Amino acid sequence: NNQDGGRKNSLFAVLDHAKTAMGSRTIKKWLLRPLVQKNIITQRHDVVDALRSNVGTLQQLSELLGALADIERIIGRIALRRATLLDYVALKDSLAITPTIKNFIQQQLATRLGTMLHEKIVDFSPLHDLLSCSINDDNSRSILIKPGYDYQLDKLRSLLENGQQAILQLEQQEIARTGITSLKIGYNHISGYYLEVTQANSEKVPPDFIHQQTLANRKRFVTQALKDLERDLLRAQNELEAIEADVFERVKREVETYLPSLRHLAQSLATLDALFGFAIAAYEYRYCKPTFNDQRTITITNGRHPVVEQNINAAFTPNDTQLATTASTWIITGPNMGGKSTYLRQVALINLMAQCGSFVPAETADLSLLDRIFTRIGSGDNVAEGKSTFLVEMEETATICTQATKNSLVILDEVGRGTSTFDGMALAQAIIEFIHHKIQARCLFATHYHELTQLAATSTSIVNYHTACKRLNDTVVFLHKIIPGVAEGSFGLEVAKLAMMPAAVVQRAATILKNVHHLQNRAHQKTLFDAAVSSPQACDHHAQLQTLENTVIHLQKELDGAHAALAKLHALDCANLTPKQALDFLWDLTQNSKTN
Ligand code: ATP
Repeated sequence: NNQDGGRKNSLFAVLDHAKTAMGSRTIKKWLLRPLVQKNIITQRHDVVDALRSNVGTLQQLSELLGALADIERIIGRIALRRATLLDYVALKDSLAITPTIKNFIQQQLATRLGTMLHEKIVDFSPLHDLLSCSINDDNSRSILIKPGYDYQLDKLRSLLENGQQAILQLEQQEIARTGITSLKIGYNHISGYYLEVTQANSEKVPPDFIHQQTLANRKRFVTQALKDLERDLLRAQNELEAIEADVFERVKREVETYLPSLRHLAQSLATLDALFGFAIAAYEYRYCKPTFNDQRTITITNGRHPVVEQNINAAFTPNDTQLATTASTWIITGPNMGGKSTYLRQVALINLMAQCGSFVPAETADLSLLDRIFTRIGSGDNVAEGKSTFLVEMEETATICTQATKNSLVILDEVGRGTSTFDGMALAQAIIEFIHHKIQARCLFATHYHELTQLAATSTSIVNYHTACKRLNDTVVFLHKIIPGVAEGSFGLEVAKLAMMPAAVVQRAATILKNVHHLQNRAHQKTLFDAAVSSPQACDHHAQLQTLENTVIHLQKELDGAHAALAKLHALDCANLTPKQALDFLWDLTQNSKTN
């Protein structure tokens, strides 16, 4: 896993149901090196299918594999001449099961790969017989070679085992000959075997007793017969060790002649165990058998994330995927915690699992063979090598842009977040455009830059999806469902609340957010206005408006003048007016209308 490099919460942990260490290693190897040849992949799928469809079969194989040792490693040690006695015993025990496994494969796995596995398990009965007869498998005895395998060894062993008896016999003979009832034969590491008599009996000691040592009230002697017996016992012991090593060496050399076929056997059993592990995962977690099409389409119904579904307390919400040439780039928006990253990874993992030979966590999966899966996920720096977080992000994305092909799957999670908003957004858009138009790889791009969703308007095969959620009072409920369209927002503050951020921080953030939105709106309006007045079309409208406005002002003035003249006419007392006054009145009226 990404946290501590361990097995916990990893895809390997989910899939590794192998019974032997060599099976587990094979699964790990397959996950690290997925296949790109369809026929080899489907051969693995067929075996998993045959195993998964019958619980009894699985149970039977489980017992057989469970009795196997890690013969792959044992064979390695044998080849390096580092194998111990226990390795040979384990090899012998494993060889005892192989005929049953071979038979099982023949009966239950009538598939192409099944036949290949069967062929690699040849008849090892001569080797098994050799190991059974020669190698000591009795823990309670510290010997290498079993009794009954080598005549010379057996003879020496019997001599040694009877040696003690011979000493006792000699002791009895000397007591009878000398009449010294307290005479004893003893042994120490310095002088070996000796005859011991008390001082009181030293008179009775015969002349052929050779004096060796005098102690406080005892004397020690040897005789020629005792010396001969001791020499025979010692020689037998040394000879036994040398002969046993020799016989063991002969057995080892004989085993080495089987190494090439043993390697095939180990490979076959490790493969079978790995496929058994896949079958158990498929059975236990309800995986489906994937198929492959040649239309570069990835269609998954009710896909699940294999690791997340095992580790969450709630039920996992399955999601569909339809990455076709008509919808090859998905821009996925949605709230934080909405399930974007999970979805991205789930699609990648389903493809990876399928190309390893495993069944996949989905209801159905019709996939297209990928040459590579590229991901740009999470953030990490490498300051020791002078690389900042953003530089690492850009380097990884650059690798994708230069190495991906139209047969690749590209998973990009929030690319462009490590720099300023506008730089990041610009880069993100350029990267999507490049991958979509130039590389034409299938791409899932999760982002919080909602502006990027406008790219869907530029190409029919760029589509928008989002993770559904529901606002409930002042909190958000994540539905974890991927549906078409653009998300309402990112709900960052709500997620901060879920993360138990102090209320004061969340409130302050809410205020800042309000202000930012307000400023953004005003800036937006001003931008619209500026754009309007600065465009050539808008200039025309502006001039026309101005002319219109001047005309209105002018008309208003004329109207005001007419109103004033009318008011004066109404107020005139024509009956009492002299001709001179009438002429003056008319003069004023015409002068006023001119000035207006
Ligand atoms: P952010 O934008 O903050 O990175 P995100 O949208 O990428 O968030 P994820 O990290 O994918 O969200 O998901 C958050 C958590 O939601 C997961 O750890 C998992 O517990 C849960 N989750 C995601 N998808 C599902 C699902 N389909 N069903 C159930 N739970 C899910």
